[in-house]
Amino acid sequence: MTDPSVTAELLEKYGGPAPRYTSYPTALDWKDDVGPDDYPELLRSAGEREGPLSLYVHVPFCEKRCLFCGCNVKITRDREWGRKYVELLRREAETAGRNLGGREVHEIHWGGGTPTWLAPDELTALWDAVGSAFSVSPDVEAAVEVDPRVTSDEQLRLLAHLGFRRLSLGIQDFDPLVQATVQRVQSVEDTARTVAVARDAGFRSVNVDLMYGLPRQTRDGFQTTLDHVVALRPDRVALFGYAHVPWLKKHHRALDTAVAPTPAEKLVIFKDAVQAFTSAGWVFLGLDHFALTGDPLACALADGTLNRNFMGYTTRPGDDTIGLGVSAIGEVGGAYVQNARELTDWQDAVRDRGVAVVRGHRLNAEDRLRRDAVMRIMCHGRLRWADLDAAHGPDTASLLGPERAALASLAEDGLVHLNEDSVQVTGTGRVFLRQVAAVFDRYLRDRDGQDAFSRVI
Ligand code: SF4
Repeated sequence: MTDPSVTAELLEKYGGPAPRYTSYPTALDWKDDVGPDDYPELLRSAGEREGPLSLYVHVPFCEKRCLFCGCNVKITRDREWGRKYVELLRREAETAGRNLGGREVHEIHWGGGTPTWLAPDELTALWDAVGSAFSVSPDVEAAVEVDPRVTSDEQLRLLAHLGFRRLSLGIQDFDPLVQATVQRVQSVEDTARTVAVARDAGFRSVNVDLMYGLPRQTRDGFQTTLDHVVALRPDRVALFGYAHVPWLKKHHRALDTAVAPTPAEKLVIFKDAVQAFTSAGWVFLGLDHFALTGDPLACALADGTLNRNFMGYTTRPGDDTIGLGVSAIGEVGGAYVQNARELTDWQDAVRDRGVAVVRGHRLNAEDRLRRDAVMRIMCHGRLRWADLDAAHGPDTASLLGPERAALASLAEDGLVHLNEDSVQVTGTGRVFLRQVAAVFDRYLRDRDGQDAFSRVI
C-alpha cells in the first residue's frame, strides 16, 4: 500500500521525470560505439554462456495511432508490409541463431505495435522462423501483445496452438470520453470477449495495461474502469502514467494536458488503483505493477527473487535477451544493443548484413554494481550493503559514497529508512521508487535534462 502522507511539497520535489529502469544504463545513454561489426562477436560470447535465453520480437504495425502512444510504430493498412517484414525477420533470426549456437530459448515475447496486425499465415511463418533459427525449449514461456480491436478469434486460437500461453492487452481507460479524446475506442464487451476466447483457447495468463494521467480522465471515471478490470480478473496489471513528450512524439501535441489530471489528482487515481487491486486479491509488486496472489511474479516478490528486464518485472534472473525487429533492444555477451529505429534503415541493414544493431553499451564493473543497486531498489525496495560487497567486491562503500550521502537527504524527506547496513524504501518512498533508484544512476547525474523520461507522478 502507498502511504497517504505524500504532501504537495514531496510531489513537487520528487514527482518529476525519472527513468523506469528496465535497463541500467537506460537506452538513452547507449552510444554508437557498439554496432553491427560487434554484434556477431557478442552473440558468440553469449552462446558460450550457460543458462536460459530470452527472445523479443518487435512487430511495429498498427492500423490507427492512439494519441497517447509512446511506442515505435508504423501506421498502415497495407498488408504487403507484413509479408516483407516477416521475411526479413527470418533472415535476422537466422543470422543471430547461427552466431549464437545452441543455447536454449526459454522465453519469447512478441510486442509492438500490434503483433496481431499480421495475418494468420504470417504469424505462423514468424513462429516457424524463430523455431528453426534458435533452439527453443519445449517448455518455452511465450507471451504476445494483442489489440482486442483488431484481433480475431482465429488469431487467438492460432497463437495458442503455436504455443503462446501469456497474453497482454491494452485497455488504458474504459471511460468513453477519455477513449474519444485519445482516439482509442474499445468497449468493455469486446475486451472481455477477447480475454474469454483467449482463456478458452489455452492462454493461462492475461496481463492488461492501464494508463492514468490521460486528458479528460477523472477519479470517478477511472474508478469505473477499475471495477471493470477487477471483474475481468487479469493475472497481471500494469498501470502506467501517461508520458507527455510532444518534442519526441509529435502526435502527443493533439492531447490537451490542460484537461488532464494534475499531479495531485493523478496521485489520488493511483492510490485508488492500489486500493482497488490490493483489496481484491492482487499484490502490489512495486512501481506500477500488480499480480494476483499465487502468480509467479507475486511469489517471486515474496521470496526475494523478483527481477526486472526490458519487458518489466520478471521471474527470470538476468537472462541474455536477443532483440529482433525494428528498434528492438537486447542484452548479449555483457552489452546492451539496439536495432535501427527507422523501418527502412532496419530493412536495409538486415537485407545487407543480416543484423541491424546500430548502438549499445558494454557494461563495465561499475555499471554492474550500479545496476545491481538500482534493480534491488526497483524490485525489492531495499538493499543491504553487504550484499553489494558480496557480489561486487569489498569497496562498494567507497564507490558509492556520494550516493549514500544523497540517500540521507531522501531519508530526511521520509522516502527511505537508512542505517549502517541497509536502505529500506518506505511507503511514501514507494510512490517515488524511480527517484530512489535514480540516486545510483551516474549517467543521469551527467545528463543535461531528463525530459525524455516520464513523470513519476
Ligand atoms: S495499438 Fe498500441 S502500439 Fe499501436 S498505436 Fe495504439 S498504443 Fe501504440
